[in-house]
Amino acid sequence: MIKVSGLRKKFHDLQVLHDIELEVNKGEVVAIIGPSGSGKSTLLRCLNLLEVPEEGTVTIDDVAVNMRELAKKDMYRLRQKSAMVFQNYNLFKNKTALQNVIESLIVVKNMKEAEAKSIGERLLEQVGLSGKFDNYPSTLSGGQQQRVGIARALAVDPYVILFDEPTSALDPELVGEVLNVMRLLANKNTTMIIVTHEMSFAREVADKVIFMADGKIIETGGPEDIFSNPQNERTKRFLSQLS
Ligand code: ADP
Ligand code: MG
Repeated sequence: MIKVSGLRKKFHDLQVLHDIELEVNKGEVVAIIGPSGSGKSTLLRCLNLLEVPEEGTVTIDDVAVNMRELAKKDMYRLRQKSAMVFQNYNLFKNKTALQNVIESLIVVKNMKEAEAKSIGERLLEQVGLSGKFDNYPSTLSGGQQQRVGIARALAVDPYVILFDEPTSALDPELVGEVLNVMRLLANKNTTMIIVTHEMSFAREVADKVIFMADGKIIETGGPEDIFSNPQNERTKRFLSQLS
């Protein structure tokens, strides 16, 4: 499982995360919601050490890291446990869809190209991009690029996939195709932590919903608890402000 304890992160004088406590079981889908600037992205980034917290422990599967005694080797092992899907896809523009998906297999996992390609092709098929192996990102729609991003995350076979607002850069008509792929993964018991503004998707797919504000976890519960019967005033206010 995933366990975060006493996690704190500052940017200069600004305390962005305060004593975060979080548990996610294998196979669970957790949605993180909350206002802009509440620390949702920073929390995801701390889970795979794109940002390094000052304090706290992060355990993913069999790797436990205490931020106070962070060794290079532990950082590397923890990073290997997760893969991130970014809002703006972050694909290599000079590589094809297939090359984007298999890059980490070749560079990080030292896999032979032929083997990596057959894995990459299977994953692109899985996200509905069979005909697009050789396309460069500029020739793909935003929804297709994000599906390449998801295939790339799946390629390293991570313990957990971290999604940071994966549909918020997309034109409305392209959101559904990305959510459909994520729904498929959820149904296959892929462990996922999803920062999202798609409340109806969160309500449908998440096992657990976390509401964050001001760098704190304000409320955690099942989707029905949070969306139909929120307990905290901040949660109520946030949800009532959504259209
Ligand atoms: P959210 O994803 O919930 O919108 P973020 O985690 O992006 O929130 O940001 C939380 C707070 O941290 C904000 O006040 C933001 O301005 C600040 N912040 C985020 N990243 C940095 C950074 N690299 N340097 C300085 N401040 C940052
Ligand atoms: Mg964010």
